[in-house]
This record gives sequence, structure tokens and C-alpha cells, in this order.
Amino acid sequence: MILGILKETQKGETRVSITPKIAKQLIDLGFEVLVEEDAGETASFKNKDYREAGAVIEKRGVIFKDADVLIKINPFDADDLKLVRKEHVLISQLFHKSNPDLIQKIAATGASAFSLDAIPRISRAQDMDVLSSQSNLAGYKAVIRGAYEMTKILPLMMTPAGTITPARVLVFGVGVAGLQAIATAKRLGAIVEATDIRPETKEQTESLGAKFIEVEHDQNQEASVYAKVASEDYARKQREAVNKSLYQADLVITTAMVPGRKSPVLIDEEQVSHMKNGSVIIDLAADQGGNCTLSKRHEIVVKNGVKIIGTTISPESVSTNASELFGKNMYNFINNLTKDSQFEYNFEDEITNATLIVQNGTIRQNGKTA
Ligand code: NAD
Repeated sequence: MILGILKETQKGETRVSITPKIAKQLIDLGFEVLVEEDAGETASFKNKDYREAGAVIEKRGVIFKDADVLIKINPFDADDLKLVRKEHVLISQLFHKSNPDLIQKIAATGASAFSLDAIPRISRAQDMDVLSSQSNLAGYKAVIRGAYEMTKILPLMMTPAGTITPARVLVFGVGVAGLQAIATAKRLGAIVEATDIRPETKEQTESLGAKFIEVEHDQNQEASVYAKVASEDYARKQREAVNKSLYQADLVITTAMVPGRKSPVLIDEEQVSHMKNGSVIIDLAADQGGNCTLSKRHEIVVKNGVKIIGTTISPESVSTNASELFGKNMYNFINNLTKDSQFEYNFEDEITNATLIVQNGTIRQNGKTA
């Protein structure tokens, strides 16, 4: 089978789905690997690195013509789909729940498509979980970006000219990104607080040396890796519990999401109006609508001296590490699908069943072809 690695075309994207090291591992697994010319350039991987790994560098058109499997990070777009044939297998993130039109268009080509963002949150799938690997880096980068945008430093500094008190950081959502944001802010010397709707995150927050802001549990939430939509009562109590910390914070990182839903609103304009002049909000949920009502995706909005930066869990400007982790996730996913260098669709396998969204032109629903 021939795997074709496509160059990402989405504006601002600098990652590549397969690094030279992973290309070699896939070749060792029995695949031929074609890589689109300059696909790795913006993640610091050169064509020559792929060639040395045993891959073949080709133009985009040749990849679509010769490859059996087309691989990329971002959803296939209209230009891609013009070149897709019914024999192709597509692998990328498709965000199928919020992209029904795209799924229809893929189905119309007659091809099959796997979506990596549909990987279930089970222990066995941890090493394939692209959302986790990328969220982890995004959590780190959110703090670094916040530190850059702030007018203060994070650590305590005692100097002959005076003492600088540590910055206060508040993290909403203690999932993968939130935990890494807490850990990074702690390492940089800030005073860190965090809150989450899932009660089990208290212990995780405290294990990193941060303070957990408790809100009376939402009756909807049982201990789980999946958060549910918060009740209005919980949202009100949450505001009351966090506002004191929010109004003292120098940096706020919001990461709260509910799988398959719009992200919850946790900070509104009224709350922003009480925040400190010069403080910064990094909203990692901007792709799903944002946790702050004022945030705009990939924009900096300034309101009452507060900078609100809408960003996403696709980590910006750490494309080398992000590609390395994404590529390893992809390798583990492909390896799980492969028997004797061919893809085998075993629907008893929870991972295959959940991620195959379109099979030979038919859209699958709830693990079945409709
Ligand atoms: P996520 O991206 O779905 O959400 C981020 C966080 O926001 C979650 O912790 C969620 O509880 C929180 N949240 C949602 N609504 C909120 C609200 N109204 N107020 C405050 N917080 C709110 O989460 P994630 O990063 O995918 O992680 C969720 C959990 O799943 C973690 O415990 C993680 O370790 C686990 N996980 C496990 C696997 C696996 O086992 N393969 C894979 C991914 C995640």
C-alpha cells in the first residue's frame, strides 16, 4: 500500500502529519511512503530528510494519483476533494460532528475516511490521541504566549531595586491543556489557581501545587473523562466562586470544552470590565466559540485594558514538536489498522469502529453504516 503525505494548505498551519522518522517506521511496517514536496519545510523537516528516511518526494498531483491512502492533519478541503478517487482512504482530523457538509462531500467521492479526532478516550488509544498530544503543547504555549503579552513577569524577583511579586494565573478547565498550563505557569514561578466542572480534577490540580477553586458539584457530572454541559445553577455558582480570583489575575488561560458541543461561556463582558488593567486572557476554546464572550479566533481584542487572545488547541509555532507527536499518534493509529501491510477493518475494535466515518462512500453512524 502506498501512503501519501500531503502538505497542509490551511492558512497559518505549519505542522506536517508525518515526520521523516515516522516515515521510516511506516516503511519498516511494509508501506511505500510518498511525501508532497516541501510538506515538512515549516516544521523544520527538509525534503532531503524524508529521502534519507526512504520516502519519495513528489508533486501534489502525483500523490493524489499514485497513493492509496491520503494523510494530512486538517480536514480535506474542496480543492483536495476534486482529486480524491473512490479507491482512496483518507486519514485526517475531520471534526465530523460539526462538519456534516464536508462528510457528505467526502461520501460523494465514494472514498473511505477516518477521523483522528474521533478516537475514543480509552487507555489503549492514548498513544494515538492527537487531541491530547496537541492540547498538551497548546497548554504550554498558552502560558508562554501569555507571558509574552503581559506587562509583568511571572516569578517572584527580589532585587536591590525592589521586590516584584509573582503574577497570578487562573486556569479554567483542567483537561490535558489545562494541566499543562498549570504545570508551565508553576514552573515559571506564578501563583496558580484552577477550576473545572469534573470533581476529580481537584486532586490533579493540587498534585501540581496549584490551588483548586471549588464550585458545588453539578448534579449532571459523574466522574468521567467527558464533561457534560453545565447547568445554569452551576454556571452561576462558578462565577461567584471564581470572580475574586479572576479580578486579581494577571493571566487567565481558558480551556473548557464539552466534546461535540459549543464551548461553555465562562467569562462575559461584565466580568472582563472588573479585571485588572494589563491582564491577559488566552482563550484556547476559540475554535468552539470561545470561553470568553469577547474572544475572536486568531485575533487580539483589547477591552478596558484587558487583552483577549482567541486561539486553539492546535499549538502555534511549536510545529516541530507538534508534528513529532502528531506523527507518532498517526503511526500508532495506522499500526493498529494494519495486518500484513494492508488495512484491515475490524469493527470489533472500538478505535476502528469509532474513527471510520465514511466507508466506500457511505456515511457511518454510531459505528454502523446507515
Ligand atoms: P476537553 O478538551 O474535553 O475539556 C477541557 C476541560 O474543560 C475538561 O477537563 C472539562 O471537564 C472542562 N470543562 C468543561 N466544561 C466546563 C465548565 N463549564 N467549567 C469548567 N470546566 C469545564 O478535555 P480533555 O483535555 O480532552 O481531557 C478531559 C479528560 O479526558 C482528562 O482527564 C484527560 O486526561 C482525559 N483523556 C483521556 C484520554 C485517554 O484515556 N485516551 C484521551 C484524552 C483525554
